[in-house]
Amino acid sequence: MNINSFNFFNKRALIRVDFNVPINNEGQVTDDTRIRMAIPTIKKVLESNGSVVLMSHLGRPKDEFEKKYSLSQIVSTVEKHLDQSISFAEDCISDQAFRLTENLQNGQVVLLENLRFYAEEKKGDSSFAMKLAKHGDVYINDAFGTAHRAHASTAVIANYFKEDKMFGHLLESEIKSVEKVLGSDGHPLTAIVGGAKVSSKITILSNLISKVDHIIIGGGMAYTFVKALGGRIGKSLVEDDYLSVAKDILDKALENNVKIHLPVDTITAKEFNNKADIFSHAIDAIPDDQMGLDIGIQSISMFSSVIKNSALILWNGPMGVFEMTNFQKGTISIANAVAEATENGTFSLVGGGDSVAAVNQFKLAHKVSHVSTGGGAMLEYLEGKVLPGIKAIQE
Ligand code: AMP
Repeated sequence: MNINSFNFFNKRALIRVDFNVPINNEGQVTDDTRIRMAIPTIKKVLESNGSVVLMSHLGRPKDEFEKKYSLSQIVSTVEKHLDQSISFAEDCISDQAFRLTENLQNGQVVLLENLRFYAEEKKGDSSFAMKLAKHGDVYINDAFGTAHRAHASTAVIANYFKEDKMFGHLLESEIKSVEKVLGSDGHPLTAIVGGAKVSSKITILSNLISKVDHIIIGGGMAYTFVKALGGRIGKSLVEDDYLSVAKDILDKALENNVKIHLPVDTITAKEFNNKADIFSHAIDAIPDDQMGLDIGIQSISMFSSVIKNSALILWNGPMGVFEMTNFQKGTISIANAVAEATENGTFSLVGGGDSVAAVNQFKLAHKVSHVSTGGGAMLEYLEGKVLPGIKAIQE
């Protein structure tokens, strides 16, 4: 079933959204991105003369009501973006909630209270999922951020909607973007992988090796590769247990005709501190009392030219400690190179955690083709895992 072709007239659409937004001590939403991203799907149903029941989690409550995690705090933000008033159900499966959703008229919207006030949500409890399912005639999953969880509202619930289940616009665009990169035969395909550790990116690297033409490796993880090749990396971040794994990746890349690009130079400091003096060294000749905290200018120019000659780009993980101004040049420059390539027709997907934070921080999000909304979900997708929230709709 497809959201564009489905006839929502007189139907109540139960939409799993990701309204897990940051809220300050005064109960105000401090970043409404996730709410804004869900609006097209909600509007689609309303404009087709259906009604909408919204369900989400917020934060990590201890399986019971906690005021600071109440979704009542976001009602006015949702109303502002929808430009209409909505009703709020103070418990997601109470009689009051069912009365509200049973009597819903076309064009109306109800928001259910935080699903995680029930332990059954995270446990994927089927009787809880069955109760939730009663709120709608059709189920839409638009929460990519939780698609890697087999929770009651993200996966199990789909069992109670035989045919009438579908992806929302947001989730659909996330899937299309990853499939475009990993499933397409457009070349050259370049993966830029950075971030702190090899250990957290190893499954991604192994999965990508059979699919990409180039892998650019930056960030803290690069030093483990450099050490594996016999370089001197000083006090840089290293995972000694992963030296042979790094070597294996390099060997596999060679077998698969994948070109791995490691940094050739690095910006170093004696302390992990933005106030420390900075130096520049060849990546494999870092003095013992220094650590590499960003890629150097030669690496930036080398990486940028690979990026600009790519048809498809996938970027996960920063090139250095971009949170500190002295070590953000590498990440900014790579973000600019990706933006420039995109302007010239390259498809670029930025996904998973800190690279998303980086493009947002540098105000370049609108200059890449797709910025993923799901950190952990995107990582698992890139690792080649089947996401329960996606599978449940496709089955
Ligand atoms: P990840 O969550 O694995 O993508 O890692 C992101 C983190 O890696 C960011 O907080 C960066 O500050 C950090 N990082 C990037 N490069 C380095 C480096 N050379 N040394 C230490 N940490 C780094």
